[in-house]
Amino acid sequence: MSRLRAIRHCPDCGQTPSPDPLGRLLCACPGKPWAWDGGYPGTDEERKKIESCGFELTTDAAGEVYYCWNGHILYLFSDGTWDSDKAPNGMTLEEYLNSVSAVQGEIP
Ligand SMILES: [Zn+2]
Repeated sequence: MSRLRAIRHCPDCGQTPSPDPLGRLLCACPGKPWAWDGGYPGTDEERKKIESCGFELTTDAAGEVYYCWNGHILYLFSDGTWDSDKAPNGMTLEEYLNSVSAVQGEIP
């Protein structure tokens, strides 16, 4: 797994775009369009590894595909990038999954 972290902040306003109630991705810049490919499950190998860390693959009503675990949302994108709302900047996907596994070990 050698995915790059998806860059999800606006170079102009610095905000991370977030979906509005209609599912459109918006930052603080009025009318700025953001592409959103909605995520995908990744390769079989990636899916096995991620599910073995406790994540569950989910497809929501808007058709977005992502993994959930304990309030964490993990996206894989078809352009080879990934993102999680809970992973610190600079963390690799491997490190992130390892950190999740470590935390899980502490949950009784
Ligand atoms: Zn912006």
